[in-house]
Amino acid sequence: MSPRMVTPVEIGSVVEPVLRIVWSDGHHSVYGWRSLRLHCPCAACKGEWTVRRHLDPASVPENVRALRIERVGAYALRPVWTDGHSTGIYTFPNLRHEICECDECTARRAAGG
Ligand SMILES: [Zn+2]
Ligand SMILES: [Zn+2]
Repeated sequence: MSPRMVTPVEIGSVVEPVLRIVWSDGHHSVYGWRSLRLHCPCAACKGEWTVRRHLDPASVPENVRALRIERVGAYALRPVWTDGHSTGIYTFPNLRHEICECDECTARRAAGG
């Protein structure tokens, strides 16, 4: 297993104001529900990788949140959203390294790294 393939050791409850995930590498991630929804990686939201498009934020309710979060095999999570969407499969590396919104990752991204 690659050292970058981290796994969640703790997944926060969907009733909390934000989603929290504690990773096997000790990192504590936090995600706003709506921004997590806007990052949905499925083909309907993001397009195929050859034809990238962006999900229109206006189409996502302000108060969207996950009803539940299902594990997909040993590599991803699939949230079932209150807006009825549930085809987005968020891989662990994507969640951990690309869309984490903790202070550390937000600062690193703002610095261009
Ligand atoms: Zn989607
Ligand atoms: Zn982070």
